[in-house]
Amino acid sequence: MHCPFCGANDTRVTDSRLVAEGDQVRRRRQCVTCGERFTTYETAELVMPRVVKSDGTREVFDEVKLRAGMLRALEKRPVSAESIEAAVERIRQNLRARGEREIHARDIGEEVMQALKRLDQVAYIRFASVYRSFQDIDEFRAEIDRLAQEPGFSADPTGAS
Ligand SMILES: [Zn+2]
Repeated sequence: MHCPFCGANDTRVTDSRLVAEGDQVRRRRQCVTCGERFTTYETAELVMPRVVKSDGTREVFDEVKLRAGMLRALEKRPVSAESIEAAVERIRQNLRARGEREIHARDIGEEVMQALKRLDQVAYIRFASVYRSFQDIDEFRAEIDRLAQEPGFSADPTGAS
């Protein structure tokens, strides 16, 4: 690649190693003309599937939107930014792992619900109530009851029950 300092055509690689647990290649380069050194990072370009909305239109996968939806549900909840980022990354991986070129918006919604369920039950209920747009209070209560039956899902967030 061209030297970013003098624009010379020829630079040579002086060192090459795997970083970020093998997900990146870091290369030290030196310009043959001016002698300046610089570093490049190489990562695989992973294309996310396109999103098919309920009205049939397509749009590009928007991680910002995904995160915003999760943050809204997690507002004022005791969940670290780190856990949220890990959950976002897991959702991205799950969606890519399907190997599909297109993915339905509702499948993304389901992934988010599963992630929130693991992170925080209040956030999960908040998200689910909006996302599934429960028709009435009975339906909402039925979902909560169903949740309470699931192993590991405590109806009492303090864990005192
Ligand atoms: Zn140079």
